[in-house]
Amino acid sequence: MMVQSQLFSDEIKMCQMDFHQAQLHLETSKLMGVDFLPIGAIQIGTIQTDGLTLQDIREDHDNNCPHCTVATGYTQTVFGEGNPNASLMFIGEAPGAEEDAQGVPFVGAAGQKLNQIIEAMGLSRSDVYIANILKSRPPDNRTPLPTEVELCGTYLKQQIACIQPKVIVTLGSPATKYILQTTTGITRLRGQWDDYNGIPIMPTYHPAYLLRNYTKETRQEVWADMQQVLEKLDA
Ligand code: URA
Repeated sequence: MMVQSQLFSDEIKMCQMDFHQAQLHLETSKLMGVDFLPIGAIQIGTIQTDGLTLQDIREDHDNNCPHCTVATGYTQTVFGEGNPNASLMFIGEAPGAEEDAQGVPFVGAAGQKLNQIIEAMGLSRSDVYIANILKSRPPDNRTPLPTEVELCGTYLKQQIACIQPKVIVTLGSPATKYILQTTTGITRLRGQWDDYNGIPIMPTYHPAYLLRNYTKETRQEVWADMQQVLEKLDA
């Protein structure tokens, strides 16, 4: 299919702007003689993916992602996995070695811990949707660069718009900072509800951090966060 980024580049650009920027963009376009934009297809501040499936977004990503198509040193992209109609979505940082080898998110040691958390919540992996901000493994598992996050993150936003989960859990600092557009670290943000385009966001520790700091306190904190998530899902 014709890629969405080509067809709707103007709309996507506007979706990435805040309200004030979008208003300026519209006024400038009007001055330049543009008298029609397909406003019905978008919402300011939201990426709309009308009619697109996760598979469409995946194909678009793999063919056109401005980061992943030029990045080197990874085996395959890791798009995401789970229920396309999930009420609960987990967002991590980027694939590691195991994820790069299998093409599936969270299948290494951190993934095993995430599985335990999901099961302790009374759910299974097939109930939820799991994705990362970056869809290709960064060299030596380094933290994704801000530019990489901005470029590849657009596709995560499309995944969110397509799935429309009731609740999102951001795992660790990079995912939380990207989704909430904040510079505040995870220690300050975890356990407190925030919002992304009307979707409640619960930031919590990354399971890899939990494994590195496997104390009663960190485990209790993550469990308390997940209990809040279960309450919100039930509400
Ligand atoms: N860590 C992440 O953030 N994502 C994965 O998929 C695996 C490990």
